[in-house]
Amino acid sequence: MFDYLIVGAGFAGAVLAERLASQLGRRCLVVDRRDHIGGNAYDFHDRAGVLLHRYGPHYFRTNSERIRDYLGQFTAWTPAAYKVLSWTDGRYWQFPINLNTFEQFIGRSSNGEEMAATLEKWRVPIDEPRNSEEVIVARVGRELYEKFFRNYTRKQWRRDPSELDASVCGRIPIRTDRDDRYVSDRFQEMPRDGYTAMFERMLEHPGIEVRLKTDYREARAQAAYRHLIYTGPVDEYFDACYGPLPYRSLRFEAETVEREWFQPAVQVNYPNDHEYTRILEVKHITGQTLPVTTIVREYPQDYGPGREAYYPLPAPDARAIYKKYETLAAAEKNVSFVGRMATYRYYNMDQVVGMALAEFERLKDDMP
Ligand SMILES: Cc1cc2nc3c(=O)[nH]c(=O)nc-3n(C[C@H](O)[C@H](O)[C@H](O)COP(=O)(O)OP(=O)(O)OC[C@H]3O[C@@H](n4cnc5c(N)ncnc54)[C@H](O)[C@@H]3O)c2cc1C
Repeated sequence: MFDYLIVGAGFAGAVLAERLASQLGRRCLVVDRRDHIGGNAYDFHDRAGVLLHRYGPHYFRTNSERIRDYLGQFTAWTPAAYKVLSWTDGRYWQFPINLNTFEQFIGRSSNGEEMAATLEKWRVPIDEPRNSEEVIVARVGRELYEKFFRNYTRKQWRRDPSELDASVCGRIPIRTDRDDRYVSDRFQEMPRDGYTAMFERMLEHPGIEVRLKTDYREARAQAAYRHLIYTGPVDEYFDACYGPLPYRSLRFEAETVEREWFQPAVQVNYPNDHEYTRILEVKHITGQTLPVTTIVREYPQDYGPGREAYYPLPAPDARAIYKKYETLAAAEKNVSFVGRMATYRYYNMDQVVGMALAEFERLKDDMP
């Protein structure tokens, strides 16, 4: 008899198992249908010895000291600079847009005041941007929008930015100084020994049993438990009774090259060339020193049978379907829906950790 059946060994499931077992002495069965722990943050060494992120690059960043310290019990941190470039018109551009990008664009040196004044002229005046096209043209105007955002977003989502929430493109900073970091968060660090090692330490507790290659439905038949924590796709839990929720999927193509570095940054975006959206070389941020490197090309693809659901679609029509599932989920007795797919939210790792810690506080009071 387990106190909790936890479906999914990603951040949501692992944080809850760790807290419930270590703080309250609860017995937790964690199942995952994949053959590894870590969820989408899983990393592993390939044949060349390069540490890779199997499901796309995972840049840990947060403004929350509490979340960083919580995870810090299970890992040391390596400072990391998440640098991104954009390749278009036959050259690299600094990205996200900053003063250096502006200078590249106008072909001479400049300063923050001139950049701010110029963007003010270029921007399209929109007081309350309602979608991802409006949010960018309202900040930088149409030309930069078309150069860096429009086609990248269309490739990634197979929708025009005008059909996506403002938050999709709006989350990318635009700066008038020389700060060229991808994100602005206070802490930007990688787990020193990788994500999987961190997850192993979180789940290493006598009160936690992990069963891999086990689907929720099998687990339900195998074990008795008092409360279910579900971190998989919410529509799947309810047998898609309101129709399937839309997701985006990805295909990853890895290539090892016999030289130390392949490209000048961890991520190069290809907004206007190729079918892939970006090439990743995570060795830039994992701290490995090796004479070879492995790059990964990332191809967006439609979600369907045999494909993984990676991104919930941040758009009004998708959210309207999710609302119906949310109502069903709220009515389920003794079930918690936690994490990115269970709540259909475009959440980063630290946000999912925060969500799981909040759910732990609720469960602590609920169960004897
Ligand atoms: C390509 C990509 C890049 C990303 N980059 C970043 C980044 O740079 N920084 C950042 O902070 N975040 C990033 N994220 C987001 C990050 O992956 C998530 O926030 C985080 O992994 C969510 O954790 P989770 O536990 O909610 O879900 P997941 O990690 O998806 O874990 C859920 C687990 O549940 C399992 N599962 C589902 N259904 C069942 C079932 N029926 N039975 C058994 N098991 C089941 C799945 O196999 C999975 O392992 C990225 C995501 C993607 C897809």
